[in-house]
Amino acid sequence: MRIMVTGAGGFIGSTLVDALLERGDTVVGVEGFIDNYDAYLKRSNLADALPNDDFLFAAKDLGDDECYEYLAEEGYLDGVEAVVHLAARPGVRDSWGDHFAEYADNNVLATQKLLEQFKERPEVLFVYASSSSIYGDAASLPVNEDDRPAPVSPYGATKLAGEDLMAVYAKNYGLSPTILRFFTVYGPRQRPDMAIHKFIKRIDAGEPIPVFGDGETGRDYTYIEHITGAIQAIIEKDVRGDVFNVGGGRTTLLKDMIAAVEKSVGKNAEIERLPMQRGDVKDTLADISKLKQAVGYAPDTELEDGIREQVEWMRRAELV
Ligand code: NAD
Repeated sequence: MRIMVTGAGGFIGSTLVDALLERGDTVVGVEGFIDNYDAYLKRSNLADALPNDDFLFAAKDLGDDECYEYLAEEGYLDGVEAVVHLAARPGVRDSWGDHFAEYADNNVLATQKLLEQFKERPEVLFVYASSSSIYGDAASLPVNEDDRPAPVSPYGATKLAGEDLMAVYAKNYGLSPTILRFFTVYGPRQRPDMAIHKFIKRIDAGEPIPVFGDGETGRDYTYIEHITGAIQAIIEKDVRGDVFNVGGGRTTLLKDMIAAVEKSVGKNAEIERLPMQRGDVKDTLADISKLKQAVGYAPDTELEDGIREQVEWMRRAELV
């Protein structure tokens, strides 16, 4: 198949690109190298893909018309059967204040521009990467796909706006996008602004780790391979026009996550306790039964094992 992956140099995007190339697909990768973290890391993520003839790469911003001109000139959009839209400015804590404009640009305006390109091609399967952050502080856990979205961060609001745009183009142009709501993803290539990545680095360096709240907050952590596996299964089975949670299916307390990092790094953490941050939710937990039923999704990675894989990657990449 020819599959387009946006945000191809990112954590999830690059892992998906490698998996699709491995499977024998032709991949059109679009990556704008926005400044949420070092472009060097994104380039390194693409080290295996870039020399591959089946990887058609555009270092372009989805918000620029020039991106689509380039893709059209190169013929990259011809024969695309699925688009996996992962490009976004992620992260809850930075999404307040002046930064919001960048979130709106990359998560909302760029998504609308991309949809415009494909609005006359309803045969293309569109997969949109949404987020657990659209649920906000859910009234009860686990959250399921029918629960009312109520984001508590500007980032969550932009991801929900992306979902709404999918629905708008579905209704008016007959597209049938599938929405996947990811829950805290971790593993090799995890973004440097995410807690596990930061904690590994700081604990290894003997620096204190900032812990927001009392350590009793809980997250549903999802190992990266289950995320990319779910996307591939959705494409293979051509599951259209539906919404799915993609989580690990259980909650781990922050203090237990820290203990798992300490074990993998082989050092104890020094904790700097800070107040809960605006926009952070207390707990997340996904009901994953719908995806299980649709594609046999069965995340089975123990947090400790996944963190060990991430530590090994960070050592290989000389990040620690
Ligand atoms: P990432 O930052 O590593 O990857 C996103 C990539 O998109 C980056 O490389 C960035 O440069 C690129 N990008 C952003 N705006 C662009 C634009 N306008 N044009 C072209 N490229 C652009 O982040 P990630 O963790 O891999 O997240 C991927 C997707 O998954 C995002 O949509 C995010 O909202 C969603 N998500 C991630 C998590 C998680 O835990 N990592 C959880 C829920 C949802």
